[in-house]
Amino acid sequence: MTPEEVLQFAKERGAKMVDFKFVDLPGTWQHFSVPLHELDEETFVEGKYFDGSSIRGFQTIDDSDMLVIPDPDTAFMDPFTSIPTLSLICTVAHPGPGAHKQPYSRDPRTIARKAEAYLRSSGIADVSYFGPEAEFFVFDNVRFSSTQNVQYAEVDSDEAHWNNGRNGGVNLGHRLRPKEGYFPVPPSDTLQDLRSEMVLTLEELGVPVEAQHHEVGGAGQCEIDIRYNTLVRTADNLMIYKYVVKNTARKHGKTATFMPKPIFGDNGSGMHVHQSLWKDERPLFYDPEGYAGLSQTARYYIGGLLMHAPALLAIAASTTNSYKRLVPGFEAPVNLVFSKANRSAAVRIPNTDCPSAKRIEFRPPDPTANPYLTFAALLMAGLDGIRRKIEPSEHGFGPVDRDLYHLSPEELREIGSVPGSLEEALKALEDDHAFLLEGDVFTTDVLEHYVELKRAQVNEVRMRPVPIEFALYYDA
Ligand code: GLN
Ligand code: MG
Ligand code: MG
Ligand code: MG
Repeated sequence: MTPEEVLQFAKERGAKMVDFKFVDLPGTWQHFSVPLHELDEETFVEGKYFDGSSIRGFQTIDDSDMLVIPDPDTAFMDPFTSIPTLSLICTVAHPGPGAHKQPYSRDPRTIARKAEAYLRSSGIADVSYFGPEAEFFVFDNVRFSSTQNVQYAEVDSDEAHWNNGRNGGVNLGHRLRPKEGYFPVPPSDTLQDLRSEMVLTLEELGVPVEAQHHEVGGAGQCEIDIRYNTLVRTADNLMIYKYVVKNTARKHGKTATFMPKPIFGDNGSGMHVHQSLWKDERPLFYDPEGYAGLSQTARYYIGGLLMHAPALLAIAASTTNSYKRLVPGFEAPVNLVFSKANRSAAVRIPNTDCPSAKRIEFRPPDPTANPYLTFAALLMAGLDGIRRKIEPSEHGFGPVDRDLYHLSPEELREIGSVPGSLEEALKALEDDHAFLLEGDVFTTDVLEHYVELKRAQVNEVRMRPVPIEFALYYDA
């Protein structure tokens, strides 16, 4: 849409308000609204002022006047407001002198745009496609209290066996057990209509969906697969996805969470990211002669991803909770290898003979990650692999087609594994980030701020006694 078309669209749909949405550094949408008369064609160039000082990872109070610049291609009517509201996704800029607005180097959407521009300038490819599978849990009840000493959380899912009619739920005998959610029909699956409503809302907003299903987690785990698209567009779509999932659940008196490991002993929620590169409208990852139908370019891209994986995970598996998911036995990756069959490998090659569908699936990310930073960082790592010709088999990255959860200790020593904690991943990012700075896509400034923000979260968790410690040590 052009700015003129956006104004026309708003009028036709009876919009009374305009909501500007932008993403903070950790990956949460922030927003503010103006009456429709405050939006004109100029707004798409000049932007709108907001106070950037209280946004996580943004400016300090002494330099806090910032601008949002709405992207006319992202206009949609917000399905969750009762007052008709036009929604626009924005990038963030400095209100610099003259007509020229300086894109803000800590704005994740700006970083993602720079990654796309860098790809085009590299000559390697002109477009990259991303397809995320973001899993989530739907709960009926969440109680947590956080006092100085104890953090306590308990969740109830109407579906789970351990909620035997508590909290007003009715026990009709149908209860999913942990790891048995994939995928019996109703009445075991109680979330069919909820997921379908999410799908139809997404499609109304211009986000095409390929499938929805219950996931393996017994306590209401779900997955909806949105169609792949270009980098920034897919990150935008993922933000819309999380907004629709959370608000649809909320509308039905439930709550959805994307935290990677809400329940001990059951599968966690991942965000596998499918990726491919194209040049002159031709796919670069396909070669019928290659292992799993992969071209050498694809192998180098995988080499880059696996070589930089520990650093990448500081961005793609960005919470302390992420590393409770990345353990053996739950279909989450633990080993830094690639494989055509194996779901415990960090990179899986989906089985397809179709050249245009040939892609790689990077499995360690989870949906609490900032999608703009994550997709940009994955692309930068892959491009580094191509530039430096990092052949995975020369670095112990496979291919390995055996069940990696059952390798002997000797065999395991031969292959690398994902970091064991967010702290380890942050250290890896501090030691290995030159590939992200190419073309000024990421800046040292934004990486330093990111690490500082995440390390504060590490300490929040590290300094608190948690319930399991009472079980283990109270009577020691
Ligand atoms: N939930 C698994 C993960 O954490 C993935 C399960 C699947 O999609 N096969 O990655
Ligand atoms: Mg899937
Ligand atoms: Mg899945
Ligand atoms: Mg997958």
